[in-house]
Amino acid sequence: MVADVVIETPDTTTLVLFTGNDRLDYSAGHFLTIDPHQFEALERFTAFLEDLKGKREPPRAYSMSSAPHERYLAVTVKEERYISGVTKFPPLLSPMLVKRTVRGMRLVVTGFTGPYTLAADVDKQTDHVVHICAGSGSVPNFSMLKFALVHHPYVRHTFIYSNKTWDDVIYKDALDKLAAAHANRLTVIHTLTRDENPAVYGPSVRKGRVNDALLREMIPSPTECVVYVCGPGISKWDIAAAEQTGTRPQPRFLESVLAELNAIGVPPKRIKREFYG
Ligand SMILES: Cc1cc2nc3c(=O)[nH]c(=O)nc-3n(C[C@H](O)[C@H](O)[C@H](O)COP(=O)(O)OP(=O)(O)OC[C@H]3O[C@@H](n4cnc5c(N)ncnc54)[C@H](O)[C@@H]3O)c2cc1C
Repeated sequence: MVADVVIETPDTTTLVLFTGNDRLDYSAGHFLTIDPHQFEALERFTAFLEDLKGKREPPRAYSMSSAPHERYLAVTVKEERYISGVTKFPPLLSPMLVKRTVRGMRLVVTGFTGPYTLAADVDKQTDHVVHICAGSGSVPNFSMLKFALVHHPYVRHTFIYSNKTWDDVIYKDALDKLAAAHANRLTVIHTLTRDENPAVYGPSVRKGRVNDALLREMIPSPTECVVYVCGPGISKWDIAAAEQTGTRPQPRFLESVLAELNAIGVPPKRIKREFYG
């Protein structure tokens, strides 16, 4: 049951879910799935899209933004947009989860799964975890960060978070509070790609994309850290669109960051990644 609906940004909402009093067994970074067929309000859209696409609409994945030691389960959903001439189909589920879900509503969620989790022995692997996220890619990393700050007291974290504008930053206040509470163990750096003067938001807010220079500055020992990267990457739709025009799909956040990490010398086995299409 939806116990609370927290509006994080104009297009992003956290749904806090009450699942009864049983302790839920999941790892920080896991996702659950939500099947759009359960929503009567979406029935005609689902059927129409299935006719157009010629296949059944699959359940959508949502990472938990809550951490396993917290009482409630929570997911944070960013609304996908239909952009005329750019997106092929209108997005099905996220607009409804973000804008039409109210307290008391019941949902069926399935899970929990996924390989993008905080290693149980992370403190044996490193004393420095670097999180590099874009947009809703912060969701699983926020869960891992909260969990690790409580359960791995000798690990410090650098949370590098890329967004278009300051208004798009999810968990702004929560990250500030965590950084204040763990001043020696957490550094949060924001990068804004579409803001002319991000410095007005404070010294931790940079202009532009995540780049080699920023990563070099934040990762003094590239062979000793462990990096968790999550955000948009080249999707199967991008590949299909590029094939039609005889071009190669442009690298997106994930591919660019992986290339930069390689350039500054982070060994691939020290990098975990999650792709959000
Ligand atoms: C492991 C994982 C974890 C995730 N966690 C989160 C999370 O924590 N928060 C979050 O907000 N999102 C998360 N996502 C993304 C989420 O699962 C959904 O993809 C997202 O919410 C969009 O779903 P939708 O139903 O609104 O849009 P969809 O209906 O899936 O459409 C999305 C886009 O794909 C295009 N598209 C769909 N079908 C086709 C087709 N046949 N051909 C061409 N283009 C097509 C549409 O035009 C649209 O632009 C995660 C994804 C993964 C894989």
